Amino acid sequence: MLGSMMQQPLLVSSLLKHAERHHGSQEIVSRRVEGDIHRTTYRELAERARRMANAVAALGLVRGQRAATLAWNGYRHMELYYAVSGSGAVLHTLNPRLHPDQVVWIADHAEDQILFFDLTFLPLIEVIAPRVTTIKAFVAMTDRAHMPASSTVANLLCYEDLLEAASPDFTWPEFDENTASSLCYTSGTTGNPKGALYSHRSTVLHTYAAALPDAMDCSARDTILPVVPMFHVNAWGLPYVACMVGAKLVFPGPFLDGKHLHELFETEGVTLSAGVPTVWQGLLAHVEANNLTFSTMRRTVIGGAACPPAMMRTFQERYDVNVLHAWGMTEISPLGTACALKPRQLALPAQERLAIQAKQGRAVFGVDMKIVDEEGQALPHDGKASGELLVRGPWIIRDYFRGEGGDPLVQQDGVGWFPTGDVATIDADGFMQITDRSKDVIKSGGEWISSIELENIAMAHPGVAMAACIAAQHPKWDERPLLVVVKKPDAPLTRDELIAFYEGRIAKWWTPDDVVFVDAIPLGATGKVQKNKLREQFGDLLVAVAG
Ligand code: AMP
Repeated sequence: MLGSMMQQPLLVSSLLKHAERHHGSQEIVSRRVEGDIHRTTYRELAERARRMANAVAALGLVRGQRAATLAWNGYRHMELYYAVSGSGAVLHTLNPRLHPDQVVWIADHAEDQILFFDLTFLPLIEVIAPRVTTIKAFVAMTDRAHMPASSTVANLLCYEDLLEAASPDFTWPEFDENTASSLCYTSGTTGNPKGALYSHRSTVLHTYAAALPDAMDCSARDTILPVVPMFHVNAWGLPYVACMVGAKLVFPGPFLDGKHLHELFETEGVTLSAGVPTVWQGLLAHVEANNLTFSTMRRTVIGGAACPPAMMRTFQERYDVNVLHAWGMTEISPLGTACALKPRQLALPAQERLAIQAKQGRAVFGVDMKIVDEEGQALPHDGKASGELLVRGPWIIRDYFRGEGGDPLVQQDGVGWFPTGDVATIDADGFMQITDRSKDVIKSGGEWISSIELENIAMAHPGVAMAACIAAQHPKWDERPLLVVVKKPDAPLTRDELIAFYEGRIAKWWTPDDVVFVDAIPLGATGKVQKNKLREQFGDLLVAVAG
């Protein structure tokens, strides 16, 4: 028997309609590429999004087609989130940190029709414009006064001019909630990039889950500053969550250094932020060096890569900012788990609490997960057995955009599971802990060593600014851990001192065989360590030593 409830599709536009109606005067503050601070409200933003929906229709964008952005976190980018998806077209957020060849390849693969860009990316646009094959219009996200005087880009349009010419009368259309809403490519280290195509339904359900108290814990009383870029998995969904709960939003634009971020945290009264560990490193260094504090920030979500416990301790014990460790993937919209403690755990001594917070956390409702061995057999949730993490749920991809790479799912118990490529344990309380990417694991004499755990220990040494642990080939053990380290400025740290630091903190045979000091560790387009590059550079170091 069917229930007798209304059939109302879950649509992205409903989030903005809600924010406009119930939180119309709530602020959205952006640091613009021009360097100034811009203030708007949900009411104004919703009107401009409707104008932009008319403008993109006038440019010929029809339902299902892709409109791309190359843009920082800002109010115009947010307008496009709603204008494009809300009209039934697909918002494709391009990652400007990729090599221009890759940007061209991805834009062509997605068959983007319009490209909106922040002025900072004009040089990139000039390189790619003559090469992309489907883009008909390039829109500079600025006003007439800031339009570039001359440019080689054909069909260069001005965002504010488009808005001004468009009518604010637009009714957000209703359509099937399974319609595609946005598209984000993974920056895979091997093979071509692959697109994750989100739907309205998956986005709205993910928004409900992400806002929950044991997930990102967002409310109308929050001021949220997403540092995580809007071109990286929709800033972890925060531009949608903020509308759903009516939170004040603060966008940092391109200014992601410690000084600019800290200034915004303080002047705008930010209560919640979110980003990858490498960003927080810059912020903490600035705050420490200048004896600053956080007067309003109460918590920060850290994910995208393992958050070193040393960073958590600094945030929590020194600055009274609670860290929520979270795990996700482009293919998972991105939220999979969040590490909110259970009541019994809150009562534990600080050190034990920290050990739990280093885990990536519990599955949010909507995500099913399990770990399996190499034969695909399910492993126990005892916090010890580690295996590949499989997930399924309504905001987890079924296949990549345009079927790229074939069927990614593995069949288990009669249903499809998405293999994450992460190796993890799950404990009896349901807390998942990533020990490695499957391609990054170190297998020494047939036994696994967790590179993340070795990195976390190195990061706890006061002389270490950044550490990455890789599998180096070894004549006897096949692979052994090799630590690559960036020292803090002027730290008198030696190899032997760092090796000795592992004593008593880890099983002796896990101790890294050697340490390489470098000036910088290569980071990818989403701020993650490129271990493949380190392996290319240092992977045979131990062979050379042994030889
Ligand atoms: P991306 O799709 O680029 O966001 O990358 C997803 C991958 O980042 C995951 O499969 C993990 O390997 C890694 N990752 C994300 N969050 C965490 C975390 N909290 N701890 C460790 N690794 C993480």
